[in-house]
Amino acid sequence: MTVFAHPDDAELSCFGLLSKLRRQGWRVILVIVTRGENGANCAAWRRVGEATAAARHIDAEIVFGDFQDGYVTRSAELVSWMEELLDEYRPQLVISHFAGETSTAHQDHVAVAAAVRIAARRARWYPTLLLAEGIDNDSTFQPNWFVDITDEHATKMAVIRLHASQREKYYMQEDYLETRARKWSLNFPNPPDDPHRKGYWEAFVLVQHAS
Ligand SMILES: [Zn+2]
Repeated sequence: MTVFAHPDDAELSCFGLLSKLRRQGWRVILVIVTRGENGANCAAWRRVGEATAAARHIDAEIVFGDFQDGYVTRSAELVSWMEELLDEYRPQLVISHFAGETSTAHQDHVAVAAAVRIAARRARWYPTLLLAEGIDNDSTFQPNWFVDITDEHATKMAVIRLHASQREKYYMQEDYLETRARKWSLNFPNPPDDPHRKGYWEAFVLVQHAS
């Protein structure tokens, strides 16, 4: 289960991993806290349609929250809703934003990440929790968990392109996305001919690991 604030966050953060898990037979549920109605130049219905098309692309399920884009707070209401979702779906793995108070993240991301962490920590079966890299170059993001998504890169690009209403944003540009996906290969001391060198990666902070 992923829990992100807006309709394109999962696609930008961890869709390679989601596509990979889906191909391995995992059930994937995309939880989106708002409908992204404050995103530039677009009505909520359009963003909902884009996210739904992206989910359909890998045959994932999608759940929208009724929280207001731009005004999400770490409220008791948000934490309770997270707890209800966790109880209902019992995910083995939960993925959310990496967004601490000291990072440069969107305020909705900070609130959602905090609520997910509280709810996941309380869950009786203790799911694995990963926090995914955001769109900005955040110096406080120090990943400790990497996924080779080379085989999923084309799928990830395809679903990001489905978010046509966001096409003008800098972080939607293909060269930017390529650089982000490639840069983590520099973390591995592989010889130059190692295929991982040329690979695409997603990076996460592993917060808690299921036993
Ligand atoms: Zn967002």
